[in-house]
Amino acid sequence: MTKRYVMVHDENKCIGCQACNVACRSENGVPEGVTRLQVRVEGPFGEMPHLHFKYHRVSCQQCEDAPCVKVCPTGAAYVGEDGIVSIHGDKCVGCMYCVAACPYKVRFMNPETKVADKCNFCKDTRLARGEEPACVTVCPTDALVFGDANDPQSDVAKLLNTKITYQDKTHLGTKPRVYRVPTKRGGI
Ligand code: SF4
Ligand code: SF4
Ligand code: SF4
Repeated sequence: MTKRYVMVHDENKCIGCQACNVACRSENGVPEGVTRLQVRVEGPFGEMPHLHFKYHRVSCQQCEDAPCVKVCPTGAAYVGEDGIVSIHGDKCVGCMYCVAACPYKVRFMNPETKVADKCNFCKDTRLARGEEPACVTVCPTDALVFGDANDPQSDVAKLLNTKITYQDKTHLGTKPRVYRVPTKRGGI
């Protein structure tokens, strides 16, 4: 069976520490001024002394129907056999069509390589070595779970079967493969 790699961000477990962001930057050589991953902190919500925050992962959604791939004129933006949306750097001509087409605003031009860049589930680094993505490995609260959703024995498949999750902007038909466990506490 083909793999279907997905990421789950549990917004209840997240504490907004940004360790994932730092690890991603280090592992994948992401230059200053751009980022493959951020955790957006919203709030505070509620009344003193019971204030709380909400945490939202901002990164490539690994769309199954990816707008960035559709608009790329050279085939630089592509979907691999593993289903991961990635970039052939040598084919990128820097036109930025993909950056404009991404409805999640998570693609950018890498100022050092001069090609389009974004989260690729650490495909070229940690996955290539048989390791989990850097952000997953360093998260101190185990808020991130990664794996093959087509493997019923995987942690990620079990999580998706047992927890309520949501995805961003599903009305666009992009079929994101980043899932989120919503915070139990409301925003207000
Ligand atoms: S490392 Fe984990 S807890 Fe910290 S911001 Fe990232 S997802 Fe949240
Ligand atoms: S989130 Fe943006 S960059 Fe990622 S696959 Fe979807 S359209 Fe492409
Ligand atoms: S999976 Fe890898 S490239 Fe994507 S955000 Fe996590 S560390 Fe960065």
